[in-house]
Amino acid sequence: MKIGAAKEVFAGEARVAMTPESAAQIRKLGHECLIETGAGAKAGFTDDAYRAAGVTVVDDIYAAADVVVKVRGPEEEEVAKLREGQTLISFFWPAQNAELLEAVKARGATVVAMDMVPRISRAQKMDALSSMANIAGYRAVIEAGNNFPRFFTGQVTAAGKVPPAKVLIVGAGVAGLAAIGTSTSLGAITYAFDVRPEVAEQIESMGAEFVYLDFEEAQTDGAATGGYAAPSSPEFRDAQLKKFRELAPEMDIVITTALIPGRPAPVLWTRDMVEAMKPGSVIVDLAAERGGNCELTVPDEKIVTDGGVTIVGYTDFPSRMATQSSTLYSNNIRHMLSDLTPGKDGVINHDMDDDVIRTATATHEGEITFPPPPLKIQ
Ligand code: NAD
Repeated sequence: MKIGAAKEVFAGEARVAMTPESAAQIRKLGHECLIETGAGAKAGFTDDAYRAAGVTVVDDIYAAADVVVKVRGPEEEEVAKLREGQTLISFFWPAQNAELLEAVKARGATVVAMDMVPRISRAQKMDALSSMANIAGYRAVIEAGNNFPRFFTGQVTAAGKVPPAKVLIVGAGVAGLAAIGTSTSLGAITYAFDVRPEVAEQIESMGAEFVYLDFEEAQTDGAATGGYAAPSSPEFRDAQLKKFRELAPEMDIVITTALIPGRPAPVLWTRDMVEAMKPGSVIVDLAAERGGNCELTVPDEKIVTDGGVTIVGYTDFPSRMATQSSTLYSNNIRHMLSDLTPGKDGVINHDMDDDVIRTATATHEGEITFPPPPLKIQ
């Protein structure tokens, strides 16, 4: 089959879904690889580098490829180019994109949504949500450091003693844990909070301090929510905000990553907390795309408050590290293609009895197959 990577059309998106290295792996599955002219340029991969890896560079990937791979979900103009029997593999967010799903159905194409890959051990190699969240968590700390006028680590120098920075990470999922690892490795005193008490051990094993609340019940029954957070009770939220109010004047950097699947981001860092922070402090809100965890976040912007606190609301952290994120995302894609090509013979076998493929498939041969049935094996 011809597997082709599209050039991203979303403004500012620098990632690409196939690298010369991943193409070499895809070719080992018996496929032919194509790339749209200039698709890898912003991620540091030239057309010549693709050619050297045996990839054909073409102008119209939708016309040329049997399977189109890309990063961002398709725009309407891209869906209009899909044809019957063609497969698109990309992020898609089918729950939020019902109309787009209908449009793809009408084209008779198949969509494999990378955001729907189930988070089970067998599918970890295809878990693009995690690979991108890991990068976002790392980059959030780097971005904070870039806007912070002091060191992370404490130092005793001839010119004077410098205290370490204090960093609070709110939400310890994949992005939060990556942020904790980066922050502790830079030498900051790092605190972290999550509504899921089961992450306390993980946080502490990474050298950060778990922020405990004065509250009796544990919040989330992780088993009931598949390991994700559920909305907090008003009493719990009050206790959480009270704790954050205490911490605000002390923290130099706050990185928020708290999300609840299918809901807007909970507001956890309120205006008065921002006002209580010292001038020069930095907030990086990784939840900005879903409204933000900080009350003052402006999505896609960096603002500085009258009190001198910088609030970063960028929503494109993985794209800001496009070489790294393209490398990891393209690996996620090629593992998906590997599962779709069990015979390694260049023939796609879209096995709807396979738990991972079934769950990720949002449309198949002109039918909408979202939402998927529950996993057979958890
Ligand atoms: P996410 O992006 O949905 O949420 C980020 C974090 O925010 C979560 O840890 C959540 O508990 C936390 N949060 C929600 N509300 C909060 C609040 N009010 N205050 C503080 N924190 C709050 O999470 P994610 O990174 O996608 O990971 C979620 C779960 O998925 C975790 O249990 C993780 O271990 C699991 N996971 C499993 C796999 C796998 O098995 N392959 C892969 C990735 C993640």
